[in-house]
Amino acid sequence: MSVPLLDLKAQHATIKDDVVSALMAVVDQQAFILGEPVGALECAVAGLSQVKYAVGCANGTDALLLALRALDVSRDDEVVTTPFTFFATGGAVHNVGARPVFVDIDPRTFNIAPDAVSAAIGPRTKAVIAVDLFGQMAAIEHVTAAARGLPVIEDAAQSIGARRVIDGQTVMAGQAATIGTFSFFPSKNLGGFGDGGMMVTQDDALFETLMKLRTHGSRRTYYHEIVGFNSRLDTLQAAVLLAKLPHLEGWSEARRRNAAFYDAAFADVPEIVTPYVEPANTSIYNQYTLRADKRDALQGHLKGLGIGNSVYYPLPLHLQPCFAYLGYQEGQCPESERAAKEVISLPVFPEMTSAQRDEVVVAVRSFYGR
Ligand SMILES: *Cc1c(COP(=O)(O)O)cnc(C)c1O
Repeated sequence: MSVPLLDLKAQHATIKDDVVSALMAVVDQQAFILGEPVGALECAVAGLSQVKYAVGCANGTDALLLALRALDVSRDDEVVTTPFTFFATGGAVHNVGARPVFVDIDPRTFNIAPDAVSAAIGPRTKAVIAVDLFGQMAAIEHVTAAARGLPVIEDAAQSIGARRVIDGQTVMAGQAATIGTFSFFPSKNLGGFGDGGMMVTQDDALFETLMKLRTHGSRRTYYHEIVGFNSRLDTLQAAVLLAKLPHLEGWSEARRRNAAFYDAAFADVPEIVTPYVEPANTSIYNQYTLRADKRDALQGHLKGLGIGNSVYYPLPLHLQPCFAYLGYQEGQCPESERAAKEVISLPVFPEMTSAQRDEVVVAVRSFYGR
């Protein structure tokens, strides 16, 4: 037996009829561009995220790009963000012509350290991007305070439906930021049959701008007030996502159960640090990520036993070859660098059987002689 890191076929088997009929409805309508399911999904995601507006777009990377453009981030501007994230967070900053300023993470949560944000704000800083990594919200209220009035983008690609209690109020991923962004890449907790993304905001003017930016800067066809992009959420994807959305909370709950099982099963293994979730947070566990002693050897051991796993992320963005021009050296974001050497993610997908969970536990424990 082997355990995949993610089993999309197992999920699909449980919802196939609903998804296929939603797809066929679009096919019958032949309304492929900004058809009815797009607006319906935007309403549903705005509701889930407790925000006024949601705007679909082509993918989670474009969601960041459009958010940066809507905030007028451009050449000579700096954007403070984390280097311990998927590449898109930094790539989007570069691609609007701005300069990413990478600051270190909180070693417990892997999310951007608010103090480090505060120290990096300068006269050229135009925005901050916090990332809700692995399913857990960043300390968004502290990042916002550190940003001292500058706009904050919350890259919630991995964290749709995650929440955090702030001053006694439950705040959803994306809700407290100037603009929150989501990805519907198939491996995210809410994944389409291809690429998709969405942006959320409470701000009327930003909503108008985001709507324009996704259709070449125009709201009235063939009249262009600004130069935008072709970045719409595909109607077929929206139909799939609408059919899946009612299951999201149950899936995230199943991931939390799997995570709790692992937490208990690894509690007596001193070579492992299980994921830390802040008491204020409810994680959706897009990944279950350990810090592990002898990580690379553990990874080889798991591979040999057919246990799916992955290292997110092996090289922080400030040390990526494409960002060499920024002039960062090893040692400048020590916690991100240490995390990159120590982390490993295990299967945590909702459809895991108890036999599969046991197999993962036995495999990890056996590596440490337990
Ligand atoms: C997946 C992801 C993205 C990009 O989303 P795509 O839909 O693949 O473009 C951006 N940021 C983070 C943190 C992600 O995990």
